[in-house]
Amino acid sequence: MNPITGSVSIDAQNIMPIIKKWLYSDKDIFIREVVSNGCDAITKLRMADFSRAAGCSVRVQVDKAAKELRFIDDGVGMTDEEVKTNINQVAFSGAKSFLEEYAKDEDKENSGIIGHFGLGFYSVFMIADRVEIDTLSFRDGATPVHWESEDGMTFTMSEGTRATRGTTITLHVSEAEAEFLDMWRVREVLERYCAFMAVPIYLEEIKEEEATVTGEGEEAEKKEEAILEPINNTQPLYARAPQECTEEDYKKFYRDTFHEFDDPLFWIHLNVDYPFKLKGILYFPKLKEQFGGIEGQIKLYSGQVFVADNIKEVIPEFLMLLKGVIDCADFPLNVSRSFLQNDGYVRRISTHITKKVADKLTGMFKTERESYEGFWPDIHPFIKYGMMREEKFAERMKDCLLFKLTDGKFVTLGEYREKNGERIPDKMVYTSDAARQDAAIRLFTERGIDVAVLDQVIDVNFASYMEYALDPEHKLRLCRVDAEVDSLTSSEEAPAIDENKLAALVLEATGKSDLTVQVKALASDAVPVMLIEDEQVRRFNDMGRLYGRTEYAMPAKYNVVLNSRSKTIQKLAEREKDERSVLLTRQLVDLAELSRQPLEAEAMTEFIRRSMEIVAMAAEL
Ligand code: ADP
Ligand code: MG
Repeated sequence: MNPITGSVSIDAQNIMPIIKKWLYSDKDIFIREVVSNGCDAITKLRMADFSRAAGCSVRVQVDKAAKELRFIDDGVGMTDEEVKTNINQVAFSGAKSFLEEYAKDEDKENSGIIGHFGLGFYSVFMIADRVEIDTLSFRDGATPVHWESEDGMTFTMSEGTRATRGTTITLHVSEAEAEFLDMWRVREVLERYCAFMAVPIYLEEIKEEEATVTGEGEEAEKKEEAILEPINNTQPLYARAPQECTEEDYKKFYRDTFHEFDDPLFWIHLNVDYPFKLKGILYFPKLKEQFGGIEGQIKLYSGQVFVADNIKEVIPEFLMLLKGVIDCADFPLNVSRSFLQNDGYVRRISTHITKKVADKLTGMFKTERESYEGFWPDIHPFIKYGMMREEKFAERMKDCLLFKLTDGKFVTLGEYREKNGERIPDKMVYTSDAARQDAAIRLFTERGIDVAVLDQVIDVNFASYMEYALDPEHKLRLCRVDAEVDSLTSSEEAPAIDENKLAALVLEATGKSDLTVQVKALASDAVPVMLIEDEQVRRFNDMGRLYGRTEYAMPAKYNVVLNSRSKTIQKLAEREKDERSVLLTRQLVDLAELSRQPLEAEAMTEFIRRSMEIVAMAAEL
């Protein structure tokens, strides 16, 4: 046999079911495809004959009575030859061949033409029983063409009647997809996918003709009153040069795009041409409620056409806590997840965005520390989450990480360790609830030791992250105010006290055998007893509660520290054990517990009862 070459032919009977089923995950994208073809037709006209393209638009007509959706543009239209190649050959992109014909090399890159693959048009068969094309080419001497098909596999083509340049696509919407004949539904899809397309798009409702008889003149008048709803902003802010945008522009774009009432805190305008085309604006939103989750939204566009929200392969997951718009001009409109995961181009975009965000934050920390501190309460959950998720981000941010102290000041970890390191080497003392733990906090602040406020949900995890990731020597320990006693001891002479005797007393009084008891000389003689809870065990259990996995909880580990410099403890140590010393010891342990957290129901009732008894005893004296 002689060697031959040729193209493999694709049979529409085989390919259509695949297009219908697999190519598009959401049916509503057919609107995006048809509108973007209309936009392309106008962009092409602009390239071929600029002056004729002025004022061109795409009109979307919803005609519920006729069960039709019409897309009308006044772009280049198609000759019969063009319909044959561009429409009748699936996967033959007229967009590509047009560029070959008209565009100079440098224009091809920046043409703004959306189509690539020559598959988009056929998505209409997902929702239509019958599709008609009426088109008239802008080329001199062209004749109008009518094309129609019921299934996208067989078609009829004939001379058409369209009298003006452009194309009308009429979709006879199938019964099952009647939702696409509702104005709100079409509007919603248009607003999502077409909000920033570069050609004006209008939505128009064709009202059912009234049953009552009206005069000819009135009828004609009604037709002229068509209300065209503008859909899009053809020059979205992100596509403009940053130096042309004002603060108010950014805020307005934020409010309009995300339907927000609050202003954003600050933003980053991305504008890259090389090595990839990337434009966008990332906003840092205000936190809604103090302990509430943060809900961001990153809208991804390609050449001003919406692709999807929150594509985690392109935008690092932690950045999803922000609100923003990203436009990658080279990004294909229809892509599979597995493509994204394995694509180097996509990874580079993601890395670039992460770097820009870190640059903005570190820059602000260095040159505008005061405003950075002002933003901190809103942005810290985002930064902490980002650091835990992305090593590179953490590397960049670790020196700009702030800690709010109980006195309202902000310090970095370095600053904290520098100031407090001598008294509490390698430790950071923190509170998870400044109001409840006030008594315990004061023990430290009165000695000049700073207490950091780590009271957000994310801080439970972040404390552990800091210990293993933020200290190269792995010496750093975070201790809640009720988990640290070493830095509260005194070097002053204190009376020797029988530790074993007191330990036995505490164990009997509390009825708990799993406590450890220690006698220490504490700096403050006003504190007789402290209850020290093991930090790691408590943190593990806090995390379990956070994730609703309480079945793995470990038994809490407590250390009762008795202050040998307290008169009360000295008295207890001297006294022979009796009912009264047991009673007082129980009261002291409860008081220690109360200074770190409220007592639970039964313990509280018992505490009140016992307090009454002690008051009565005191009244007797
Ligand atoms: P793509 O847009 O990726 O090229 P489509 O399947 O969306 O593929 O469209 C196929 C081709 O049909 C287009 O490239 C274009 O040449 C032609 N076409 C579709 N709609 C129109 C229109 N409204 N006006 C002019 N040409 C159109
Ligand atoms: Mg297309």
